Amino acid sequence: MPIPPLPLQVVTNSSVVCSGREGPDSGHPRVFLAVPYGGEVLCPYCSRRFTRDLSRGSSSQAAAEA
Ligand SMILES: [Zn+2]
Repeated sequence: MPIPPLPLQVVTNSSVVCSGREGPDSGHPRVFLAVPYGGEVLCPYCSRRFTRDLSRGSSSQAAAEA
């Protein structure tokens, strides 16, 4: 039975903290994950994926065009 893909979590920071799902028994030790710019990172514990929101960031080139 195939495992359904987990939704991709979109974050605005370059790093994210993952501690698993909400709840007392379904979590895992808190881990810090570095999210590569333009890429995604996979949590080794719960296989959640995180990606960077490129439309919102400190180095936005689109905002420079006025
Ligand atoms: Zn996790």
